[in-house]
Amino acid sequence: MRPGELIASDRGARASRPDDLHQAWTVLEQVMDPEVPVVSVVDLGIVRALDWANGHLQVTVTPTYSGCPATEVIEQDIRAALEQAGFAEPALKRQLSPAWTTDWISASGRERLRAYGIAAPLGSSNKRSLLGEPQVIACPQCGSSHTEVLSEFGSTACKALYRCCDCREPFDYFKCI
Ligand SMILES: [Zn+2]
Repeated sequence: MRPGELIASDRGARASRPDDLHQAWTVLEQVMDPEVPVVSVVDLGIVRALDWANGHLQVTVTPTYSGCPATEVIEQDIRAALEQAGFAEPALKRQLSPAWTTDWISASGRERLRAYGIAAPLGSSNKRSLLGEPQVIACPQCGSSHTEVLSEFGSTACKALYRCCDCREPFDYFKCI
């Protein structure tokens, strides 16, 4: 055992140190979305902030949408991962405003979604759909924009099922806004 390890394992009352917050972010980068296991909660942009409150780590989470059944699972996963990393009794704070938008998905998250076969959403296309303009969703397989909606509900309520008219492959579109 190296000197300092005893101190490092005493997590009861921790001072707020920037390197601890950095470590907590690193831990959360390994917590995957239960519905889309290739993107982390950090890549999705649902972890809004990490702070210290009364000696405990406080995690501010904004659900992808308020009724999303995965939110409970995500919060449990976040808590478990942090406790395993030595953060005692992390506090989770749910923040509903401002509402999560797909714009918060990181560039690497979008790339991983695409590689997984899910069309990565664009905030601007969602805004266009709100205005009643047609939404063009590019095929994640071949990049064609010649696609059609098969079902507004794909494998989960968060996704719509599309099909590419060129390569004929069906794909999920992540539609939460
Ligand atoms: Zn295609």
